[in-house]
Amino acid sequence: MLGGGTAGWMTAAALVGLIGSACTVELVESAEIGVVGVGEATLPHLRGFLKTLGIIEAEFMAATHATYKLGIEFRDFANVGDRYVHPFGTFGRPFEGVDFHHYWLRRHHSLPASPVGQKPSFPIGEYCLGVMAAEHRRFAHPQGDADDPTTSYGYAYQFDATRFAPFMRAWAQMRGARRTEGIVTTVERNDVGGVAALVLADGRRTEGDLFIDCSGFRSLLLGETMTEPWEDWSQWLPCDRAVAVASASPDGPIEPFTQATAMPAGWRWRIPLRHRVGNGYVYASGFLDDEGARDALLAALDTPPLAEPRLLRFSAGRRRRSWVGNVVAIGLASGFLEPLESTSIHLVQMAITHLIERFPERVVEAIDRDGFNAAVDADYDRIRDFLILHYHATARNDSPFWNHMRTMTIPDSLADRIALWRRSAHVPRYGFGLFLEPSWVAVLLGQNIVPEGWDQRADLPDGAALDRALDTLRRSIHDRVAVMPDHAAYLQRATA
Ligand code: FAD
Repeated sequence: MLGGGTAGWMTAAALVGLIGSACTVELVESAEIGVVGVGEATLPHLRGFLKTLGIIEAEFMAATHATYKLGIEFRDFANVGDRYVHPFGTFGRPFEGVDFHHYWLRRHHSLPASPVGQKPSFPIGEYCLGVMAAEHRRFAHPQGDADDPTTSYGYAYQFDATRFAPFMRAWAQMRGARRTEGIVTTVERNDVGGVAALVLADGRRTEGDLFIDCSGFRSLLLGETMTEPWEDWSQWLPCDRAVAVASASPDGPIEPFTQATAMPAGWRWRIPLRHRVGNGYVYASGFLDDEGARDALLAALDTPPLAEPRLLRFSAGRRRRSWVGNVVAIGLASGFLEPLESTSIHLVQMAITHLIERFPERVVEAIDRDGFNAAVDADYDRIRDFLILHYHATARNDSPFWNHMRTMTIPDSLADRIALWRRSAHVPRYGFGLFLEPSWVAVLLGQNIVPEGWDQRADLPDGAALDRALDTLRRSIHDRVAVMPDHAAYLQRATA
């Protein structure tokens, strides 16, 4: 393996932890080159990853200074002054096989003061425990029936990116992963066009049967050595830079959510950790220069910065294939989608799962490689569409960047989804992968695309009975949130 960032050590940990008898893991990394050092907000699936490896949540959270994350608060995306929470949970629960949002829409359209296109008097977030807990800065581990919307929701973590890979490294090394420190300067090829060995600056060689490229944006094995082409998505996702800086923790509550605030040439993240806050401005260099981004980020901080802002450059897209010959790229070496929905570490996790499911016994079989590539492509393509939605479905016309995003041509796959949603409130389900229906509902409504129609089966219940059921649900969620502990206090107890 090449690369000891989050992707490298997550992959190494999964290989030794789950299929350690089928392979020997050797990882080469260079402290001199270092890691990208960002990537602090995650998705709930990471909990499954850690649990499968037997990692105890409280230990992991203490080691990485983590906080709980109930979702992302989007500010100023649909329009300046607008906000909504995209939660890790469902809205209400299905009734007679019809998803909750259809009933909510029926009621929404029946309210005289809420014409199409305007926010209703009871936003759909009031029917989601995760949203309401986030609004009140509360958290407790979900308990009881996982399908009960009054007791259950998903959650993820926000952690110190510089502590996560070392945590996974220690875990993987204890279970047999070997680590070599040094800079790879030459990649030796085998006679069938694959990789035979990594050669370090001091002449040491690391041979292998399968090479996993976790070398970050450089993509040394897949991109540079195997010359796999880059598929560029900057026409839809033009943000190509970020300035990032940590700031002091403010007095007061710790938000159990990530904030994404739209800015004139992109958006700004705010991720509260136990010991500090992570901040960054993701922007399009075609619309803003680095100095302007840096100044805007510093001006927006609510507490003093703890260091000088760091500049990061990237572009949106992916390698056409992530597995070529005996080289499999995972993490930034495979592709990059900006962190608007905190999806990169999740893409790492998905690639690890796809690889382990198809791990070669002796030689690489084309069927495994092609299956892996198809699965990775689907993961990337779907997340790409979801990200574009946040930018494109906007009424903002206050800067050249937002005018461009609002009026650009979007992929057909996304245009079809939006059209179907507008007409009938249906969200086609994916066979696997992200994003699930509640996420699309949250962001489509959050971005003010309110459908004109809904599933006609939602018209069956008597109107007064529907009103009562919705009000009961809303009140139950409010009552539950009222007795939930404060997030900061809960964190203190849970990770002590
Ligand atoms: P890196 O961390 O860059 O690691 C590369 C490794 O390869 C290093 O160990 C390096 O030393 C090694 N290496 C490279 N070349 C050589 C060589 N020649 N010899 C030896 N070693 C070598 N993801 C999220 O999920 N949530 C977020 O909130 C999030 N925010 C982000 C914000 C920004 C601005 C950016 C740019 C990314 C963000 N990400 C986020 C993505 C996340 O940071 C990465 O997906 C994750 O850290 C994995 O990185 P990596 O391990 O692939 O690469």
